[in-house]
Amino acid sequence: MKKLSILLALIGLLNFDAKAQMPSDNGIMRLDEFRYPKKREIINIPNVNGLTVLKCDFHMHTVFTDGHVWPNVRIGEAWKEGLDAISFTEHVEYTPHSDDVKVGNLRPHELAKTLAAENNIILIKGTEVTRNTPPGHFNALFIQDDKNLVADRASDLDEKAIQAVVDQNAFIFWNHPGWKAAQIAGSYEWIPFVEKMYQEKKLHGIEVVNGFGFHKKALDWALDRNLTVIGNTDIHNLIAHDYDIEREGVHRTMTLVMSKDRSAEAIREALEKGNTVAWSSNYLFGKEENVRNLFHACVKFSSAYHEKTNAQGKKTKYYELSNNSDLHFELHLKQGNGTQKVILYPQSTQIITASDNQSKLTYEVVSTYIRSDQHLKVDLSL
Ligand code: ZN
Repeated sequence: MKKLSILLALIGLLNFDAKAQMPSDNGIMRLDEFRYPKKREIINIPNVNGLTVLKCDFHMHTVFTDGHVWPNVRIGEAWKEGLDAISFTEHVEYTPHSDDVKVGNLRPHELAKTLAAENNIILIKGTEVTRNTPPGHFNALFIQDDKNLVADRASDLDEKAIQAVVDQNAFIFWNHPGWKAAQIAGSYEWIPFVEKMYQEKKLHGIEVVNGFGFHKKALDWALDRNLTVIGNTDIHNLIAHDYDIEREGVHRTMTLVMSKDRSAEAIREALEKGNTVAWSSNYLFGKEENVRNLFHACVKFSSAYHEKTNAQGKKTKYYELSNNSDLHFELHLKQGNGTQKVILYPQSTQIITASDNQSKLTYEVVSTYIRSDQHLKVDLSL
């Protein structure tokens, strides 16, 4: 009898225990299998001569002008994709949602800044000065407030509109210079308005890549005048609506900023120094020095690890070319006797073979543009 009561007590305890361990589902079974795993991607790019390479998108829109998303969504996207810094750059002169959303040029910044801080995203105050084309649109980063911006689009106020952001000590770049090339004759030229801005030091950079378009003439203008090379999305919809970001290796268009640290101040300093490379699709765009430094930070060439001699006595040596980054490089042989074409996928190695009795192979890195018609050339010392 005693044994039985102990046994019953034990069963009771077991029952009690089992109940205690079963999570209460409140009558709802979770079906989370198809949910996105919550994680932030890491875009691997090694430091370049001691500088951190920050992934930045300085041109995007929300419902506060002509975008289709709420500001918080942009923070979520940037976090997920592994970006370091973004800027909301709403149109000053163009607010098509004003009947439904109260206009406020820096309102997205205000609404999203706490979430940005919590997600370790650097949020830079910005705006898009949206004049008729020509001259077109200019982004102004690091503005303080939106009180004195010029919302009137009349052409005789173009200079005043630029001056309003100059007065705020903004970093200013010309957006997508060729965007109306097909519709407005003469708009995709180095126009007098822009020349005057440049002469007066009111223009600091050019958006050479906008979304999916490389503005070729704009790259040469930037290089010839030592203006900073910029690449942005100018996204209006969801990033995932336009970019196939779930596919391996796909990333949004962005500016790689080589910065002394991960802060807004250091980003500004790097932008002013022109320490940038635009990255879009498989391509890099920028000043030769910057693209070269970035290439050499990512790509390493080994010493010969093997050699073989054929029946005619000719010796071939084997080397490894390694890409220690998430960037993509494609190399075509220009000089020397060796492997003709190399596709260096992200985080991978390829074999290079070269005949004996030569000191180097010279390649063109065809996935880079250091002018509209010129790729980076690199020597591999044998
Ligand atoms: Zn825009």
